[in-house]
Amino acid sequence: MKTVRIIGGGLAGLSLATGLAKRRIPVEVIEAGTYPRHRVCGEFISGIDISTLEKLGIAAELQDAKLHTTGHWYREDRKIMTMELPDPARGISRWRLDERLQERVQGLGGKIRTETRAERTPAEGTVLAAGRPMEKSHWLGLKCHVKGLRMDSGLEMHLGNNGYVGLTPVEDDRVNVCGLFQLQPENRGKGSDRLMAYLANGGHRGLVERLRDSEIDETSFSGVSALSLGWQKHEDDAFVVGDAGSVIPPFTGNGMSMAFESAAHSIGPLAAWSLGSESWDSATRRAMLIKRQAFRKRIRTSLALQQALLDPRGQNVFEFLSRRNMVPFNTLLSLVR
Ligand SMILES: Cc1cc2nc3c(=O)[nH]c(=O)nc-3n(C[C@H](O)[C@H](O)[C@H](O)COP(=O)(O)OP(=O)(O)OC[C@H]3O[C@@H](n4cnc5c(N)ncnc54)[C@H](O)[C@@H]3O)c2cc1C
Repeated sequence: MKTVRIIGGGLAGLSLATGLAKRRIPVEVIEAGTYPRHRVCGEFISGIDISTLEKLGIAAELQDAKLHTTGHWYREDRKIMTMELPDPARGISRWRLDERLQERVQGLGGKIRTETRAERTPAEGTVLAAGRPMEKSHWLGLKCHVKGLRMDSGLEMHLGNNGYVGLTPVEDDRVNVCGLFQLQPENRGKGSDRLMAYLANGGHRGLVERLRDSEIDETSFSGVSALSLGWQKHEDDAFVVGDAGSVIPPFTGNGMSMAFESAAHSIGPLAAWSLGSESWDSATRRAMLIKRQAFRKRIRTSLALQQALLDPRGQNVFEFLSRRNMVPFNTLLSLVR
């Protein structure tokens, strides 16, 4: 059997490695960083089927994630809606999840090389799971963990005039605070002060006070710029999974699910190539087509919805409808899943 080489040990790369190693396909993951590590991520997983997790062999790693069924929406500190999710979202830190997945890969005999950066160029047997390519953009993602935060039960989503921020309870009484903002160079500061500056200028002064009253874990602070949303640029003949192929706007809480789904869709074609029953070109084309078909609708809808959610007129409409319980929430949710 031929070895599948996976560039990038984030959720897509590690879950794919688990799914392959579970089927005794030799895998090697090449990861630029180390484990565990904090990552810019809202840390709530929504819209994933248990069958996908089982296919990948990672259901146990998510079993003790916090389950959230309620979400509260705010606009600049005003609560505008409480929603009930049809299926619970899972709250778990990337610190814990990525660490667990890499242990799982190694436990199944897969190889992981950390602190090694590989070329993103396509090659036979190589899967690109290296996340979003660096691209100049006007987005900034910031996150940190806090303890002892006063909050509603469940999840909170806050819309502001420069982006949005989600609050997700994760393990060990921590709450993950993660926002996507339009880059504003005037919002300066080191570590969480930068996040506070974006929040204060985004109209979330009440939230800033609540955060200042809590215990902020500065070591968990992370930031990322140079991120683009939607379909990502890559070579036509590349075999890509996760964010390397497409990035869904974070408010959906579906990016991690897409990383897992794209890994699950890739197992069959990669196993066929490894066993010698399918050529690399055919396996790549087959997997890329399945993914395009699976993700097309949700990428298109979520980009349009995010644009509306970030626009003051769109926010006015959303607030008006929310206050009257007129947001077709379940329909919208099904369009971004
Ligand atoms: C602000 C923000 C909030 C978000 N919130 C949520 C949320 O609440 N819920 C949700 O489901 N999703 C959320 N997401 C999206 C989610 O984080 C991603 O969809 C998910 O991490 C994608 O996983 P991945 O494995 O494809 O990429 P990544 O997790 O980015 O992993 C890529 C890996 O590749 C490694 N790498 C990169 N280049 C190389 C190289 N050349 N060689 C070797 N290794 C390399 C990196 O070190 C990294 O470990 C959010 C994203 C942002 C930006």
